[in-house]
Amino acid sequence: MHGLMMDLPLTVTAIMRHVERAYPDEEIVSITQDNPRHRYTYAQAFRRVRQLANALTAFGIRPSDRVGTLAWNDHRHFELYYAVSGMGAITHTINPRLFPEQIAWIINHACDRMLFVDPLVWPVIEKIRPQLTQVEAIVLLTDASHMPAASNVYCYEKFIGEHQEDISWPDLDERTACSLCYTSGTTGHPKGVLYSHRSQVLHSLFSSAVDALALSARDVVMPVVPMFHVNAWGLSYSAPMVGAKLVLPGPKMGDGETLQNLIETEQVTFSAGVPTVWMALLDFLRRSGKRIDSLQRVVIGGSACPWSVMEEFEREHNVHVHHAWGMTEMSPLGTVNQPIRGTDKLTSDDRKTLRMKQGRSFFGVEMKAVDEAGEELPRDGKSSGVLKVRGPTVCAQYFQEDGPGPAHAEPGWFATGDVAHIDSDGYLQITDRAKDVIKSGGEWISSIDLENAAMGHPAVAEAAVIAVPHPKWSERPLLVLVLRAGHALTREEMLEFLRERVAKLWLPDDVVFVSEIPHTATGKILKSELRKRFADFKLPE
Ligand code: ADP
Repeated sequence: MHGLMMDLPLTVTAIMRHVERAYPDEEIVSITQDNPRHRYTYAQAFRRVRQLANALTAFGIRPSDRVGTLAWNDHRHFELYYAVSGMGAITHTINPRLFPEQIAWIINHACDRMLFVDPLVWPVIEKIRPQLTQVEAIVLLTDASHMPAASNVYCYEKFIGEHQEDISWPDLDERTACSLCYTSGTTGHPKGVLYSHRSQVLHSLFSSAVDALALSARDVVMPVVPMFHVNAWGLSYSAPMVGAKLVLPGPKMGDGETLQNLIETEQVTFSAGVPTVWMALLDFLRRSGKRIDSLQRVVIGGSACPWSVMEEFEREHNVHVHHAWGMTEMSPLGTVNQPIRGTDKLTSDDRKTLRMKQGRSFFGVEMKAVDEAGEELPRDGKSSGVLKVRGPTVCAQYFQEDGPGPAHAEPGWFATGDVAHIDSDGYLQITDRAKDVIKSGGEWISSIDLENAAMGHPAVAEAAVIAVPHPKWSERPLLVLVLRAGHALTREEMLEFLRERVAKLWLPDDVVFVSEIPHTATGKILKSELRKRFADFKLPE
């Protein structure tokens, strides 16, 4: 039919074009090992992106080749994102915190031809290099004066070298693969999720909307979520797209002092990350008395955000916390907790209950909770079941797998592996991961609710609840606690504290105190490890 709209493809190249034209002078600030405060503009960044793309072409990288990165949040990683995807190749971000064998497996599975590696990660890669069957070259992300004494590796600044700043980007179909990220895979091998240009552009549009992350050109965005895991929750694309200043904390993402300093000196207004990094920041602020006055909003997700974290941010620092939920397979954002009309009329208790939920899905993400027979459950805020999602930013099948696996058993839907309920306003509440559910006498006990309740005690630094086998109830909850430095707490005091806050049947059968709770490479509590550690634990009669 004649007279339709232009068919300009939704590509990362289009984001780049827009940013260069609309916000050339906006800044990207980053910390790297060779420069404590690197600063340049988007215009300068994209000039180097073009040089890098020319260097990659000269090396022999071709469309759909995989280029691996093992890097922190910084300007060179940013350049790789746009150069590799812009030329039609695939930016494969790899989590440097994984075990070396896992890293080697992922690199080989993805058939990465080149690796771009932060010097801090180089010692790990150097050891596994003989196992990397397809990698033809490794480039260290630094300048000549900071190169370690290593053979057979390139220096990034030299690699870009004198390459031209002019390029004619290929006209890509928006369904071209753009980037690749593997999920941690707590069971079996990690699974690759292959994002398309279209899915990334749509995710940026959907997720930056007012009722989602509400990003704008007035923001200074500091992603504390790593660029090596789901594109820093899409912020690597969405923050430039809206014209925000970007602040990249480099290798110091878990360090409260660095984060506070960056927030204060760069006037950060918006940040996003998993609960553990915010606990580290709040701890530093408590100890140092320092301020984070410019910070307006923090989005917390990746695992359930304890109320104590939300409350402290708001009470002490006037920072508004938005709970969010998503997963690698969803690009990753699915829901963000924003108020709707009438929320301000709720009692403070009801508002707290609402704020603790993971939020509402924005346009582009459809979700439903289903029962064991696969029937959709009512949206009544209490009927819990397996959560399924669909949409143009949801993975249709894992990378290099022959067909749809169990998660895609229902055609057109993806089973998230989370257990949740949805209320009549559309607010999602995750109660557990399916594999972490505690089934006691036929009833599901939410480990997340119990953990949140325990975290409400001022002596508790971190809480995890796991199922322990029980002869009568089949499983019962065990509470594992790490205490804050200088605090004391007994098992009885904790149980007394919980008695007023959770249903009697949910009360943990025992409480154990440990010095540290194990975490996954993406900062979540490693429940499988805890379950192993307490497999033979004898609950009191
Ligand atoms: P992994 O860390 O295992 O590679 P993801 O980063 O994709 O994988 O993690 C996604 C999972 O994290 C979700 O399926 C869910 O279980 C959990 N999750 C994410 N956000 C939240 C949240 N706000 N509350 C509870 N669980 C969450």
